[in-house]
Amino acid sequence: MAVAKAADAGAAEAGRDFIRDIVAADLQAQRHAGVVTRFPPEPNGYLHIGHAKSISLNFGIAEEFGGRCHLRFDDTNPAKEEQEYIDAIQRDVRWLGYDWGQNLFYASDYFEQLYVWAESLIEQGLAYVDDQSQEEMRVNRGTLTEPGKNSPFRDRSVAENLDLFRRMRAGEYPNGARVLRAKIDMASGNINLRDPVLYRILHATHPRTGKAWSIYPSYDYAHGQSDAIEHITHSICTLEFEDHRPLYDWFLDKLPVPSKPHQYEFARLNITYTLLSKRVLTELVRGGHVSGWDDPRMPTIAGLRRRGVPPAAIRDFVKRIGVAKANSVVDVGMLEFSIREVLNKTASRRMAVLRPLKVVIENYPEGQTEELEAVNHPDDPAAGTRRITFGRELYIEQDDFMENPPKKFFRLSPGSEVRLRYAYFVKCHSVIKNAAGQVVELRCTYDPETRGGNAPDGRKVKATMHWVPAANSVQAEVRVYNQLFTKSAPDAANFAADLNPNSLEVLRDARLEPSIAESNSLEPMQFERLGYFTRDPDSKPGHPVFNRTVGLRDTFAKEVGGKT
Ligand code: ATP
Ligand code: MG
Repeated sequence: MAVAKAADAGAAEAGRDFIRDIVAADLQAQRHAGVVTRFPPEPNGYLHIGHAKSISLNFGIAEEFGGRCHLRFDDTNPAKEEQEYIDAIQRDVRWLGYDWGQNLFYASDYFEQLYVWAESLIEQGLAYVDDQSQEEMRVNRGTLTEPGKNSPFRDRSVAENLDLFRRMRAGEYPNGARVLRAKIDMASGNINLRDPVLYRILHATHPRTGKAWSIYPSYDYAHGQSDAIEHITHSICTLEFEDHRPLYDWFLDKLPVPSKPHQYEFARLNITYTLLSKRVLTELVRGGHVSGWDDPRMPTIAGLRRRGVPPAAIRDFVKRIGVAKANSVVDVGMLEFSIREVLNKTASRRMAVLRPLKVVIENYPEGQTEELEAVNHPDDPAAGTRRITFGRELYIEQDDFMENPPKKFFRLSPGSEVRLRYAYFVKCHSVIKNAAGQVVELRCTYDPETRGGNAPDGRKVKATMHWVPAANSVQAEVRVYNQLFTKSAPDAANFAADLNPNSLEVLRDARLEPSIAESNSLEPMQFERLGYFTRDPDSKPGHPVFNRTVGLRDTFAKEVGGKT
């Protein structure tokens, strides 16, 4: 698959795509009174950014065409589904900015109707109870090149099938003893039509129906009929269901459904350095590879939120990538681009030092301090200003100093002069080292004439550096995240081998200007020259914890060597 910049950049920008074109044409031709879409998650995990694409498509179309979008939980497999996931999914859809209003539904609401329709298929001679084991069924299904074999139970009478199916429902048989299958065509070129399973026996407690059922409909059987019950006009799903469409249409044809939704398929979102499979994400959580579903390295909506990614950035990203019919992989840099675009406009600027190096301004009087004014947003005067305390002892970033700098290094080094942001020009005279020979302190002087950062004599400096005061800055823990995987196309089957051992870097000795630490806001801020950072809920009084949401520039390609 090619790494695409966007499905069709022009169309995406204009907010158009082939599905919207279809909807517009259908409404124009009055094929429907209004558009009804749905987002149908299975509550067996948290939502991820791929789901955001589907959410934004379904809710977006309903909004733009004056229709409605249902949130429907496809809760047909109680073995894997939990209330925690139902709650998390609703929270995340809402947080993304979408509203289903009164239209919250569950496939389990339709269990009785689906059951009645299954009996109708039996009565029509279109479904039968099969006693083969799972293994026998798998073998007899055939392959892409060979037809399947008819089950020895395929020709049971309607009466026998009805009786067995009713006893399945009544809970008379153990898990896996029998299934109900559609009777279609074991030789079909489309494997989905080789007598697919409609019901399986499962003695489990369902989050909504409890122990009422001992049999559960398959996803394929429940999905299309649920759409039909809800009068969905455009049933939008990802490409892997294209081959299932003939089966869905077969059900709609054979059953007395109240409407006949048409299914349209689009390409699912894939992102470099990222796996968007619920199975993998579940294993990352269960295996302790991450701290939870909301670990900021996870591509889940909850993880992105905790990391500080605003919902507007996710919506912007999804809009930019567009909707296409061919699978492709989107560069993770595009997501970061959208995050920066939004945060650059909204985030307040502050100063923080991630790896502090002490600076003593020798000619600044001991015991004296002064307040300097700093702007909160360079492009937004309404964001106002704040005060920062300057004094004799400060911290700068270790990276901003080199004792023996190469030619193009313009930041601080012995003898060089730089500007401290909002403050003064300073010069470094000597360094103090520890026993191990590491630089632990710089002795500098400042030029009192340069208050505010400009020299009256017009002399220039080549670098402006951020800093914090030593005395009243606040110590903090800062978590810097890198990609969770080292490969641009991680192997979903063996993802553990591709995990990045350096995906989390914890800096425990960062220093923040007090205004950062004092604010309890979860709004991301820009730490000048470093990136965007957001308070983490792990923060405790006196122990602020911040996540790096994203750096200021795309440095990732360099960090991993730019090779894929
Ligand atoms: P799995 O990863 O096991 O295939 P799923 O992500 O498809 O599961 P669902 O809960 O069935 O899980 O997904 C809900 C909806 O989101 C479906 O309509 C599905 O097509 C869509 N969807 C899932 N993944 C993506 C993706 N990567 N890009 C776009 N849409 C997606
Ligand atoms: Mg799915």
